[in-house]
Parts: sequence; structure tokens; C-alpha cells
Amino acid sequence: MTNRLILCVLLVIISPWLLAKELILLHTNDFHGHIQQEGKYAGAAKIAAFVKEIKAQHPAVLLLDAGDAISGTPVSSMFEGEPIFDVMNAMGYDVGLIGNHEFDHGYKKIERFRAIANHPLLTANALGPDGELLGDAPYLLRNLDGIRVGIIGLITETAPTLFSPTGNEGLTFLNPADRLSELVPMLRPKTDVLILLSHIGHEAELVLAEQFQDLDLIIGGHSHTLVQHPVRVGKTLVAQANHYGSHLGLIKIKVPDAGQGSLDIQGDLIAANELPDGDPATQALVSSYEAKVEDQVDIKIAVIRKNYSKIALQPILEDILAEAIGADLGYYNRTGIRDVLSEGDVTARMIWNLEPFGNTLVKLTLSGADLLILLSQEPTLHHAANAIDPERRYQLATNSFIASHATLAFGDAITAVDTGILVRDILIQQIKAKGLQ
Ligand SMILES: [Zn+2]
Repeated sequence: MTNRLILCVLLVIISPWLLAKELILLHTNDFHGHIQQEGKYAGAAKIAAFVKEIKAQHPAVLLLDAGDAISGTPVSSMFEGEPIFDVMNAMGYDVGLIGNHEFDHGYKKIERFRAIANHPLLTANALGPDGELLGDAPYLLRNLDGIRVGIIGLITETAPTLFSPTGNEGLTFLNPADRLSELVPMLRPKTDVLILLSHIGHEAELVLAEQFQDLDLIIGGHSHTLVQHPVRVGKTLVAQANHYGSHLGLIKIKVPDAGQGSLDIQGDLIAANELPDGDPATQALVSSYEAKVEDQVDIKIAVIRKNYSKIALQPILEDILAEAIGADLGYYNRTGIRDVLSEGDVTARMIWNLEPFGNTLVKLTLSGADLLILLSQEPTLHHAANAIDPERRYQLATNSFIASHATLAFGDAITAVDTGILVRDILIQQIKAKGLQ
């Protein structure tokens, strides 16, 4: 074939894309350090392979992450989240977002994440003690194949209740709707496609969509919601891709010529098992990090005969904590239980995945009334709540996350004694010694 013929063949193949002006968005959220393929979770290499394939075929592709990239696996916890951003570079991210878990190692660590990541980490509403935004930028403007794309980054205003106060003093989180009221009218005239990259949670994102119809699309996160096809709220679509890399979001946006007609937006989630084989370069990088943790975590500690949901695990973990320091009872917040346990072998890695934060065991002494307030934070009635006498004082075994928030809330009314022992280590020891009840 002559060069000219090859060119003609190529043009025939690619011309529909050139004529249609299509923007393709690939998205993840709440990846939580799951760089290694594990069960239902794709791992970084399979996602990277798909991203490379699509980017090779189309002129206008963006890979976005909607926050909470770190905290959820030993490799993230042991190296304070840093490997995750390095691996995300290999995956080809174009834009990321600061989620509440990016504060797990203190807000100053975010500077380090920004330095490692090749992509900007957005936030339009998280401010440091100096009043400056903590991300690279509040929003991003990109021109891709002539399509003008605007991406605003926002985090939930409730973030301070979700991370440890230690190392996160003096931060301010602005109201997302207030920020959108300023940014949407400013960016709308400059963009063909205006996107909110959000770590606010699906329900709240639906409300924002209704309020801000000038947004074309919200790519969400934080609630770990599996949204198979983006939900339409008026003119605005709201997407989210579950969590832990179980799915990759794929959104195709047909952009008409120079404001002629409206956008055509179609979205879907691709499950891990539908993704191609892993990209070798990305897998090599993942393996180099995993090699540093394998010896410590891929150790069988028990065998279990059934599956344990987070709800089933909660009282069991609480009993383990209470027994470890002879407290009246234990409290393990359900949102702090980050994974389930499945029938079969239990490894130390699974306990790391369940407790990735490195919280320590704390003994709190507090009134039953304050304890009831603490337990009322649970998504549903805590199983021990009905038996608690508000008049009595209790010794409570809990983790340092709950203890630090309780200390902030109740001050001198409670006493907290931090054992300095990692909750994860206690769980591993006890499950190894006694199995699970
Ligand atoms: Zn989150």
C-alpha cells in the first residue's frame, strides 16, 4: 500500500470521530489505594490498559478521579498514600480531586501528593489555615480537539467530621452551592462542556444538579454509589463509578458545532472483568510497590466458614476492642469498617483493608448520655444503644478517630487514654488466636 492509500484508509476509519466532535470522559472515584487487582477490583493496570486503548483511538479523552484515591490498602497506609499518586501517573490521569481521605495523613501531606501527581488536584472549597486553596486550582479549563471543557472541583463541606482533627487544624470548607453560584456563571460562557468533579456524595449531587442546570455533568464520588448509567436531573447528568476500581466510568459527549443544539451525553460503567489485560508498565510499577508490603500482609491468620458484612462485623470488632483493655463495651464506627470478610482464608492484608487508617486503641470514660450522642452518629440505631443507662459512667474501648472527635465534642466531660496500640494489630492478633465468632 502506498502512503497515500494508508492515509485514506485511516481517514475512513477515524473520520466519524473527527466530524462528530466527541468528548470521552473516563472516571473513577473512591479508589482507596486499590492499585493491585483483587477480587472484584480491577487494579491500576487493567484500567490503564483501557485508558491507553481509548486515548490511542480518540483525540479528546480525559481520565478523571473524583477523590479519595488513597487509604484502603496496606501499600497506601504503609507509605502514606504516596505510591497511589505515582501509580495514577502511569494510568494517565488528567485531573484529580481532593477528597476527605486525602487528609488522612494531615493536610500538609496534600502538598506532597500534588508534587508527585502529574495531574492537577482540584479543590474550589478546601482552604488551609492561611486561607489559600489546598489544591492546584479551583477549576480546570482544557481545549480538546476544539471542545472547550471546564471542570470545577468540590469536596463535601462535612469533611472535618470525616478525618482526624490532628494534623488538620485550622482548615475551612466552603459551601459547595455557594462556590457553584460564583463559578458556574463565570465558566459557562467559556465552555462547551461544563463538569463538576465532586466528592460530595450521590444524593447531595442530585440536589446540586437540580440547583445548577448550567452544569452539563456531575462526576461524583464519596458515597461509593454504583450508578450504572448517569442519572438525568433536568438537563444535568449525575454519574458515579462505585468504589475501589470495581468499575471504570465511560461517558461519551457529542458536542454540536458552535452552540448548535444541545449536548448528547451517554454514560455507562465498565466492570473490572470487562476491562482488558493489564498494562505491563503499570503492573510493573504496582508490583514494585506491592513487593514492599507482601511479606508483612500476605499471611494467613484464620479460616472463616461464612461471609461477614460490615453490619455483622461491627459488634465482633467492638467486643475485641473491649476485651483488649477490659472496658465495659466497645464502639467501632461502621463507616470505619472499610471492607467485608468472605468465607475462606483470612489474611493480615484483609484486616489492613478493613482498617487501613492506622488508628490506635483508646479507652474513653464518659457518661451514658454522652455515649448515646456518640452512637447516634451511626447510620442506623447502634445495637448497644437501647441497653445504655444515660446516668451511668462507662469505660469505652474505641479507635483514635472516634476518640479525637469525642474529645472535641465533649471536652473535659470525658477522659481519653490512648494505648498507642494499633487497632489493626489487636484485630490481627485476636483473630489469629481465636478466629471469628
Ligand atoms: Zn469520601
